[in-house]
Amino acid sequence: MSDTIDSLYEQIVSRSPGESEFHQALYEVLETLSPVLDKHPEYKEHKIIELLCEPERQIIFRVPWEDDNGGIHVNRGFRVGFNSAIGPYKGGLRFHPSVTLGTIKFLAFEQTFKNALTGLPIGSGKGGSDFDPKGKSDREIMRFCQSFMTQLYRYLGESTDVPAGDIGVGTREIGYLFGQYKRITQRYESGVITGKSPDWGGTWIRKKATGYGVVFFCEEMLKAVHDETIKGKTAVVSGSGNVATYAMEKLKVSGAKVIACSDSDGVIIDENGINVDTVIDLKEVRRVRISEYLTSHPTAKYIENGNIWEIPCDIALPCATQNELKEDDAKLLVKNGCIAVCEGANMPSTPEAISILQSNNVAFGPGKAANAGGVASSALEMQVNAMHSASYDYSEERLHEIMNHIHRACCQTAEEFGEPHNYVLGANIAGFRRVANAMLAFGLI
Ligand code: GLU
Repeated sequence: MSDTIDSLYEQIVSRSPGESEFHQALYEVLETLSPVLDKHPEYKEHKIIELLCEPERQIIFRVPWEDDNGGIHVNRGFRVGFNSAIGPYKGGLRFHPSVTLGTIKFLAFEQTFKNALTGLPIGSGKGGSDFDPKGKSDREIMRFCQSFMTQLYRYLGESTDVPAGDIGVGTREIGYLFGQYKRITQRYESGVITGKSPDWGGTWIRKKATGYGVVFFCEEMLKAVHDETIKGKTAVVSGSGNVATYAMEKLKVSGAKVIACSDSDGVIIDENGINVDTVIDLKEVRRVRISEYLTSHPTAKYIENGNIWEIPCDIALPCATQNELKEDDAKLLVKNGCIAVCEGANMPSTPEAISILQSNNVAFGPGKAANAGGVASSALEMQVNAMHSASYDYSEERLHEIMNHIHRACCQTAEEFGEPHNYVLGANIAGFRRVANAMLAFGLI
């Protein structure tokens, strides 16, 4: 990092003590921005970096809720609006016990670059709660969502701040959240939240979009870096939620064999190829642990607390959560001949892991580019809603075009700055420039 960037980083860190995930995300972006600052002194002059690294607003609120036995619980809710230079705050809600302000800030910060890369008019935000949905009844989930929205609704609006899902928040939760928004405001404002069911204002592609998008990006990246395709490759995909499931589905359609997936308890290895319908049934319908996969596929193997990155593969897609792929995992992937790692989750690889992969010629697609298909299709859902249209829907082709556009933007920018195939640098600079130019144009200071 240059001296200017280094001291900026130190300043921001000292103003946000304890937010280690935010510091990590910040570092990963700042260390790639020196060349663009050298080329454009106006960014430095107008303190664009300082502005871009400080959220526009941060809301923290109390979320009380009642369990099925009448017990009272108190959780904490967050919503960070990071940047609105190119559109309303846009980004998901995460319900997970590990969530802190630092988690939400890192996610909202990453969202700034991701959303800009899509080329669509969406600013950045993120929210969530330390609520643990695991083991809760449907009614408890409903009561929690209603209480959460009772606090949050006053800050939302289809042109102000538009949440969606993330870990622990799917179509069911979006339904309860929207229902409460509608109840309180007496407005059927479809575009105030995305990831809705296609039955009432959503698009069918949204649920699949992040996972499909990762695979579209991976296909382009393989072609550009190794002159290869997905067809005939062996893949492992961590996680078994929305992103992992539909990434596996698309990998299979593209001719790969997916031999492993996981949840936070363990890893499933199925040499016959993971049966995606079974995973959907376990995780989306029955909401049980992935170990249950063995009941219908007795020849598969389950390794409790196993490490999925130990399994030899050509393609690895980390689609579970942040910092799940560490330095030693990257070394194992390299040793076993992996040629591409594409991030479906947000910041799943540590900086040490990324540098091992990049220096060993493993094509590496960072999440803010590779997993942007989800938020891109959310932006398309907002367009459908703004037209008050029920019949108009967007096709998979449109998602594919957007992912190709993102891939091109990363590639061209990396080349422009003399680092071909450095997708981390390409994504950061391309996303940064779009937001920075809008901020300059607005005279935001
Ligand atoms: N949570 C997703 C992400 O990390 C999607 C956000 C959205 O659709 O607004 O990009």
